[in-house]
Amino acid sequence: MIGWECAIDDCGVDFGSPEELIAHQETEHAGHECRVCGKRVADGYLAISHAFSEHTRAEYVRAYDANAKAIRVREEVLRTVESALDEPVSVTNETE
Ligand SMILES: [Zn+2]
Ligand SMILES: [Zn+2]
Repeated sequence: MIGWECAIDDCGVDFGSPEELIAHQETEHAGHECRVCGKRVADGYLAISHAFSEHTRAEYVRAYDANAKAIRVREEVLRTVESALDEPVSVTNETE
């Protein structure tokens, strides 16, 4: 089936829409500290969105020791989620 599967660690829970998936990642997972700027963001899609909108690919590669394939996979996730969302989801959170 085609669903929205949470890709954080071994979670693997399926959702019917990207909004539900993002809400799950924000509430059910511990969150993520950006390795570039140290900001707390929700894990999963929002962490990727933060890293790729706030930082350059070069910064991301350095901080996460990422390779070109890892970048491509994450860009694909962003494209897929963003094209499916009715409204853009803000990456800012209230823990600032
Ligand atoms: Zn999950
Ligand atoms: Zn950051």
